[in-house]
Amino acid sequence: MKIICDWENCKKIGSYKAPIERDNSRKLRMLCLEHVKIFNKKWNYFENMNEQEIEYFVKSDLTWHKSTKSFGSSENFFNILWNNALDDKINIFRSSNFNEFKKNKLSSNDRDALDIMDLKYDTKWEEIQKKFKTLVKKYHPDKNHGSKKFEDKLKKITLAYSQLRMTMGKK
Ligand SMILES: [Zn+2]
Repeated sequence: MKIICDWENCKKIGSYKAPIERDNSRKLRMLCLEHVKIFNKKWNYFENMNEQEIEYFVKSDLTWHKSTKSFGSSENFFNILWNNALDDKINIFRSSNFNEFKKNKLSSNDRDALDIMDLKYDTKWEEIQKKFKTLVKKYHPDKNHGSKKFEDKLKKITLAYSQLRMTMGKK
């Protein structure tokens, strides 16, 4: 049985996952390529969150780890979106720091994530956390007179951070 795109009035095949809720509940809907692209453009995790709430979000294990038993699973809000973003490489800034790549056995996902956060490949987890906080503050609409011009950048940074958190942030 073929899955039809969950978008209203769309009859194409839905082969791309999109999260339904902003957590790790693993509730999914399947969308066609066209509509998953629209979804990727539109989601905004930080909508209506103030700086304190974002700070809490960064610190809180609850949001990231909630009911996530195996980290191998890629079925949570950020992972799904991160994977979608990687499928769409056009939008992802990439650098080529090959020496550091050889030194560190990072996955290409981790390297992309570090590139997006403008960090070196040997950055320690504590430094990544600090950098994330700095970047969220810098690009949050509250700090830019409510302007949403950095929304995409903030999204990518958040997805990158969630990727690194899975790889490096586990105890
Ligand atoms: Zn569709």
